[in-house]
Amino acid sequence: MRRFAMARAIDAGDALRTAQGASSRYCAGGTTLIDLMRQDVERPERVIAINRLPLTTIEDAPGGGLVLGALATNSEVAHHPRVRAGYPVLSEAILSGATTQIRNMATTGGNLLQRTRCIYFRDPNSACNKREPGSGCPAITGYNRNLAVLGTSEHCIATNPSDQNVALTALEATIEVRSTSGGRTIPIDRFYRLPGDAPERETTLEPGELIVAVMLPPMKGWRSHYLKLRDRQSYEFALASAAVAVRLDGSTIADARVALGGVGTIPWRAREAEAVLRGKGVSREVFREAAVIALRDARPQSQNGFKIELARRALTQALIEVTA
Ligand SMILES: Cc1cc2nc3c(=O)[nH]c(=O)nc-3n(C[C@H](O)[C@H](O)[C@H](O)COP(=O)(O)OP(=O)(O)OC[C@H]3O[C@@H](n4cnc5c(N)ncnc54)[C@H](O)[C@@H]3O)c2cc1C
Ligand code: SF4
Repeated sequence: MRRFAMARAIDAGDALRTAQGASSRYCAGGTTLIDLMRQDVERPERVIAINRLPLTTIEDAPGGGLVLGALATNSEVAHHPRVRAGYPVLSEAILSGATTQIRNMATTGGNLLQRTRCIYFRDPNSACNKREPGSGCPAITGYNRNLAVLGTSEHCIATNPSDQNVALTALEATIEVRSTSGGRTIPIDRFYRLPGDAPERETTLEPGELIVAVMLPPMKGWRSHYLKLRDRQSYEFALASAAVAVRLDGSTIADARVALGGVGTIPWRAREAEAVLRGKGVSREVFREAAVIALRDARPQSQNGFKIELARRALTQALIEVTA
């Protein structure tokens, strides 16, 4: 591990001020950052511990909905009664990831910024456009079984590995961030960037900005569900997953939200699938039609074509289960 300076922030303002200047990284749970520093992939000159900032609460939002503090752990969020009752898709998504020990450390904000599991990205001896812009993308001709089929570019085909963020996408969460010049709110569908020709820029966060909270909108009358398919039943990232939320009027789908995981370079909102579902009766045929549309633009790589059908099945099954 390279040498770096360590600072502990006492409040958000202190964290923001300390992050100015030298290349800095906030450290929340550390389950992504410290791993990557050990692997010499992340090389910050300064690490700012933010885990004692008072951003851990989970509370009702004034106009309905829920506010998740950026430092609320994945375990606290997944097991919170308001999350389990009102946002089961989020609880299920979080509990499908990692292990209890990791979820006890990992935070809401850190999870939003976890990095890809592409093996070349995590190997500093390998070329990788995301880690070292302009060096190339060996995954395109190499090992790409677990990588993306949606949103790829000729510069990067890495998958966003998170489960939490697929659920947050289906819930239309917004992200509260703070900088030295004020604060702003970023809808989750404007938070992640497609790789395009700059895969090293994964989000619209500016350097030094601090995530302080994630806002969940009111979901009264909605049901939601997360289904994850993977090589083994625990401690494994998604090959394909589906986060779904539906509002039923009798046996008609009044409204629907669909997001896919494990297949996109970003948590993948499938709006065309939602349009297929809206106003239709609950049926396997309609769900399958929506799933086919959701993967219509998928582009397989040499080893991951199987993910397209896997994602269709994940979505179809998730819709069957959420409407049962
Ligand atoms: C073995 C293993 C298995 C895993 N399996 C899964 C899985 O199946 N599914 C899944 O979704 N995830 C999985 N994960 C990933 C895990 O969920 C993430 O590592 C975790 O959520 C990151 O949170 P953290 O608080 O530890 O982040 P940190 O490591 O502290 O930070 C991650 C990044 O976010 C930045 N950051 C953190 N907080 C803030 C903030 N408030 N504002 C601005 N920047 C911030 C940091 O600077 C860093 O760049 C796994 C991880 C491991 C190690
Ligand atoms: S897919 Fe992306 S992360 Fe993986 S090697 Fe290519 S550029 Fe790097």
